[in-house]
Amino acid sequence: MNEFEKLKINKDILKSIEHHGFTEPTEVQKESIPEILSGHNLIVQSSTGSGKTLAFLAGVGSQIKQEKKVQILIVTPTRELANQILDEAIKLFKHNGLFTCAVFGGTSIFKQANDLKKADVVVGTPGRLLDQMKRGNLRLENIKYLVLDEADRMCDMGFYNDITKIFNQTPKEKQILLFSATITRDVSKIEKEYIKNAKKIVIDSYVDPSNLLQEYYVVKQHNKISLLVNLLSNHLDKKSIVFSNTRQEVDLIYHNLKENNIEAFRLHGGLEQNKRTNTLAEYHKHGTAVLISTDVSARGIHIDDLEYIYNFDLPRDDNQYIHRIGRTARAGKKGLAITIITSSEVNSFARILREYNFKAKLKPLPNFKLLVITKPIKGPSGNGSGNRPQNRDRRSSLGSGSPRRDRSSSHNRDRDHSSTRFRDLDYGERISVSPRRERTSSHNRDRDHTNKEKSSFRNKF
Ligand code: ADP
Ligand code: MG
Repeated sequence: MNEFEKLKINKDILKSIEHHGFTEPTEVQKESIPEILSGHNLIVQSSTGSGKTLAFLAGVGSQIKQEKKVQILIVTPTRELANQILDEAIKLFKHNGLFTCAVFGGTSIFKQANDLKKADVVVGTPGRLLDQMKRGNLRLENIKYLVLDEADRMCDMGFYNDITKIFNQTPKEKQILLFSATITRDVSKIEKEYIKNAKKIVIDSYVDPSNLLQEYYVVKQHNKISLLVNLLSNHLDKKSIVFSNTRQEVDLIYHNLKENNIEAFRLHGGLEQNKRTNTLAEYHKHGTAVLISTDVSARGIHIDDLEYIYNFDLPRDDNQYIHRIGRTARAGKKGLAITIITSSEVNSFARILREYNFKAKLKPLPNFKLLVITKPIKGPSGNGSGNRPQNRDRRSSLGSGSPRRDRSSSHNRDRDHSSTRFRDLDYGERISVSPRRERTSSHNRDRDHTNKEKSSFRNKF
């Protein structure tokens, strides 16, 4: 008997799972599917890449039939995640006839409205869901299951009020399921108010530490891109994501990687939605390229065979670190997360590691070439150069030959602080940095977001 059959999943969904080639449910699936089937409200915390999507889709999808009424509502923080869940739902519900519709901004309201007429399952982001509700295109009176995926991120992004508005439109009798790798205080607020008698399932650590190695480099801010180019050039045959906090910096990194003949894509909220969707679709298909992205890709996004994660800066919220690095080492695979920080960020990084019981190895700076960093020229979209990778030989200027904008041949002054003052960071330890360098960094000030600032995040990344 297939291990999934023991979970009493509906046989049409089982057929799809078999078609996927999955034979053994992951731990979170084993734990949560029976609880979903027995009608409990759930709060589930399990590591990134542990298969939470299939857990909730198979659980709720096993219990409804096609009625052309919205019975399952799945709310996500980002359009990309909504789209990814839509794809999984289409595959899983192929044989049971359930129709899934995605509802998020940047795409046609009218097409969505049309699809909503026959939808049994809706997956969407809070803003557009409310919009479609106001227009009368989305009615929630038949909702039996409400799933919040990455709920803590939705709260971080200022969607708390939107979520409560959605909650208030759903019938009293329903099952609520909340899934994330991290559960924050905001989530407890939702729980207290809306999720009565929730069972808690906590599977394991935030990420799989046996498969995910963490390393970091300490370098001057203006040399970060040069170091990044050097590091990327060692594994151009593999897929990587580089995370940065701001759209401007994503554009800058993207532009300079391309200047140095590294095949790159970029993703952030300032790009038009069809560009965002196409970029992610192309990146999925691509065997090797680098994706430079804001945290819009940090939550829930799954990319097969992604091995390297770079943090070009520390995320604004500590727990985003988990989600960024959790894009690799998923579903039992191995991965490496590399954080590039300045000396003034070391204490903040140590705090993050301490908070989540992580370890990161300090890497000595390699002998990298200092590049002259150029700013992208703004095109009509205001976003610098185009989004397609270049098909030039990426190794040509990075290997033996020197990059085009090489100003200092081989040595770099950053190397001087690599050995003595910094060391591998472990949880539970504080690192001391010489007072001269330990300024109040703008980064730290940036972390102190007021709620008002937080609520505008969604427009910033
Ligand atoms: P999470 O939401 O926990 O971060 P996902 O639901 O995105 O993780 O799943 C991560 C990857 O694992 C996806 O590619 C998914 O198809 C795959 N996966 C899910 N369930 C299984 C399973 N039982 N066996 C093997 N792979 C699975
Ligand atoms: Mg997920």
